[in-house]
Amino acid sequence: MSSTTDLNTIDIRTEAFALFMNDYPYASDVDAIDELPLQMFTADDEGSLFNARVLGFGSSYRKTHLNHAPGTRPKGSCSRCRWTDTAIMWAQPVEYLGEEGQHQFLPLAPWQYVFVSMGKSIVSGERQYNTVVWTTDPLDVFRQLFVPTKKDFRHDTGSKAIPPHNAVAFRDASSVDEHLDNVLAEHEALVPPVDRRGPDADPLAGL
Ligand SMILES: [Zn+2]
Repeated sequence: MSSTTDLNTIDIRTEAFALFMNDYPYASDVDAIDELPLQMFTADDEGSLFNARVLGFGSSYRKTHLNHAPGTRPKGSCSRCRWTDTAIMWAQPVEYLGEEGQHQFLPLAPWQYVFVSMGKSIVSGERQYNTVVWTTDPLDVFRQLFVPTKKDFRHDTGSKAIPPHNAVAFRDASSVDEHLDNVLAEHEALVPPVDRRGPDADPLAGL
């Protein structure tokens, strides 16, 4: 199967991945996981490759800015200058063996989940924070969805919850993966109901 994969690798840490996801089918719109296109990705500077299908994607990106003009440094905090892209993938790390007739790949590990969270910022001087977790355990994927509900989170006093963009990704992923779906069924009350159009969902739509 991987021998026919296009080696047009996408680095998931870049905006090229967010653009790629604009045209990627929603898992909740397909009947089976193999209807989701297979794509070659990398997530590190060494160029390590993995073949994957994206089960779910969510973003807290918003088009507007709060109390400052775009391009100027936000006074206080502008939640629009910083956002998080989350992806849940079904993936297999591979090594590229060259191009003898067809692309050849050596699988390096079994197919498993990859949870990717990219904390992005357009504020100058701020860097991107990436979390990439590989796991065969659907419950580990679920654990990754939780983020602190307040700034200055401390483990002894803080609380965590699942933000809407993570719920979008997880609910979509659950629609094609029965193991994730079992976890969702067990913890349904913790996963907010969501609109996958995201925080910019237009209240005028449908009026
Ligand atoms: Zn801003």
